[in-house]
Amino acid sequence: MNSDPKAVEKIAGLIRESRRAIAFTGAGISTESGIPDFRSPGGIWSRYQPVLYQDFLRSEDARRRYWQMKKEGYYELKRARPNEGHRALARLEAEGKIAAVITQNIDGLHQEAGSRRVLELHGTSRHCICLDCQARFDPDEIQQRLEAGVEIPQCGICGGLLKSATVSFGQSLPADVLAEAFELSMSTDLVLALGSSLVVEPACSIPLQAKNNGARLVIVNHADTPLDSLADIVVHRSIGEILSGVVRECFPVGQACRNRATQ
Ligand SMILES: [Zn+2]
Repeated sequence: MNSDPKAVEKIAGLIRESRRAIAFTGAGISTESGIPDFRSPGGIWSRYQPVLYQDFLRSEDARRRYWQMKKEGYYELKRARPNEGHRALARLEAEGKIAAVITQNIDGLHQEAGSRRVLELHGTSRHCICLDCQARFDPDEIQQRLEAGVEIPQCGICGGLLKSATVSFGQSLPADVLAEAFELSMSTDLVLALGSSLVVEPACSIPLQAKNNGARLVIVNHADTPLDSLADIVVHRSIGEILSGVVRECFPVGQACRNRATQ
């Protein structure tokens, strides 16, 4: 499907009419910050097999491979900064135009851009956690230990297994976050699905459920998605470019937003 040349104006119009919009974001919003999609060529998972959670728990060798991969990917994540897309979503939230960001990303860039209500379906790389005592550790400190030659870092408090607070393959999504996300999908009137291929379950059913419940659906993604035929607007362009255009359209310089949402 070709991109609609009037997409920016139309999306801004839907946002103005909406009273409870949400954003749903995937890897595509962060590739614009230099974080490669894990599926893309050269992405870290093209060099490493992802470690399944069950293997991490039972195999020392799997834990060694897991931390080797984390060590190698550390600076890529650490260097990344929010882009125009992240900043536009933070602005829309601050202006009362979106209620929350639900994300499949683990990079913390939404929060760094200023978004306050961020639901991280796949956890976060911004801290490590002890699987035994639940103590949290700064990933910078863990990275220092890895670079000093530690292969499998352990909890300094109880000696338990440390892991990044991201959701691994085979690990269930955080139930409270998922429940909140589905609740939002039932109350929203507009979903902006941004940079997600909308194929991974159960995350992709959040926009679908919202649509089935009467919400409008806007999809901005470089590739086609299975929900394109249901969407009100589909755009195959840069998220940063589209959203910054939408923000300019919604909030012309020096003018407060009309129809400020009341929630
Ligand atoms: Zn511990």
